[in-house]
Amino acid sequence: MIQFNRRNFIKGAGAATAVTGAAAGLGFPLIASGAASKVVVVGGGPAGAIAAKYVKKANKAIDVTLIEADEHYHTCFMSNEVLGGEREFNDLRFNYKGLAKHGINVVKARATGVDHKKKMVTTDAGRKYKFDRLVLAPGIDFVWNKIENYDEAASERMPHAWKAGAQTTLLKKQVEAMADGGTVIIAPPANPFRCPPGPYERACQFAHYLKKHKPKSKVLVIDAKDKFSKQGLFVQGWKNRYDGMIEWIPGSETGGGVVSVHKSKMSVSSELDDFEADVINVIPPQKAGHIAQVSGCADDSGWCPVHLDTFESTIHPGVHIIGDASIATGLPKSGYAANSEAKVCAAAVVAALGGKSMGAPSYVNTCYSIVAPDYGISVAAVYRLAEDKSKINRVAGGLTPMDASGEMLRREVLYAHSWFENIVADTFA
Ligand SMILES: Cc1cc2nc3c(=O)[nH]c(=O)nc-3n(C[C@H](O)[C@H](O)[C@H](O)COP(=O)(O)OP(=O)(O)OC[C@H]3O[C@@H](n4cnc5c(N)ncnc54)[C@H](O)[C@@H]3O)c2cc1C
Repeated sequence: MIQFNRRNFIKGAGAATAVTGAAAGLGFPLIASGAASKVVVVGGGPAGAIAAKYVKKANKAIDVTLIEADEHYHTCFMSNEVLGGEREFNDLRFNYKGLAKHGINVVKARATGVDHKKKMVTTDAGRKYKFDRLVLAPGIDFVWNKIENYDEAASERMPHAWKAGAQTTLLKKQVEAMADGGTVIIAPPANPFRCPPGPYERACQFAHYLKKHKPKSKVLVIDAKDKFSKQGLFVQGWKNRYDGMIEWIPGSETGGGVVSVHKSKMSVSSELDDFEADVINVIPPQKAGHIAQVSGCADDSGWCPVHLDTFESTIHPGVHIIGDASIATGLPKSGYAANSEAKVCAAAVVAALGGKSMGAPSYVNTCYSIVAPDYGISVAAVYRLAEDKSKINRVAGGLTPMDASGEMLRREVLYAHSWFENIVADTFA
């Protein structure tokens, strides 16, 4: 971030507390009256975990509770490398002990509802959690059957692997079991969806594995769209490393991509054609996670509208939605954007609890894609809020140059791996 990096944020938050502390007790009205302000965060991914941690870092007196359904978090980032045979699945696994050490009350439970009047979150464990400010960071859910016959049961035969976990392992096993000369289909959805470059990096990682172990095989990408993130760089990478192995079919050639699946025949249909394959990776359309829906924070699009300077819901004041679940107009649905949104949100929550208004934030995103173990590409951008606050504008940044040297492409992979180490340390340590 430009003006809002981690050091400045902590410094800034600390300074704000000191100023208001001198003027008005500790600057937090509820703390001054003897009761700690309560912040409840639902979801311990890169959005929720960071929000919880940075609120706590800004002011230890705030009572922060993180409600997370699972004991372990598996990152989607670098999960394509697992499919390419370059990373162990266990390398994606993290726990919440580091966050607990910061003094965050980590609760393993699934949030089931929000009582906006009583300012209370209910959980499947039967306990209720009161809040002054609530942060929802539940990630995505899938819109089942928008592609005909593609429901949760079908995903056991044709995995999506778009939430890292058992689906990642299942998809990997299917490709490993496939005979040489087989076809793998990837069916990416229309926008918006989690990780815009992810399906195309996955094509690279499948091709990397197949080139090594089953070189007569093919990867067919049947897209709903006519263009995609980092397209020029990906297409060049496919040609340079996997010539003839990856075929991409734009939506306009099929009438909009896959519209139905037939799991008994292992085939998919578009409006115009039928396609058979040995392994089929359907990435279905998505929406904000269930708790965002049942708490009434999502609109008809399935995603959550928010004020872009605070990530506070435009529907339910006092509730903030960050990460993939939010409509962060201008930012992609990525882990790094989730991290950036979480820091802006944490500052806004701390400011609101201190009776202050939020300044004008800036945001950041970098997204690496690994074409091959020595061939990486990236896009990086810094963003600022538009003056009318209607969108987040990209103000600086760039892509890996199309004429990057072999050394530069090799370094991009090192940077990608270093990025991974940094973001998981920021999130979980
Ligand atoms: C294949 C793939 C590759 C990717 N690669 C990259 C990359 O290289 N770089 C990048 O920046 N991004 C990448 N992404 C995108 C990134 O993973 C997501 O954007 C990011 O995980 C979003 O974070 P989040 O916190 O919003 O949601 P999530 O990471 O999904 O976290 C949500 C958490 O909330 C919990 N939860 C949900 N509902 C409840 C509930 N009711 N109660 C309690 N807990 C709940 C879930 O268990 C989960 O732990 C990739 C994604 C995929 C699929």
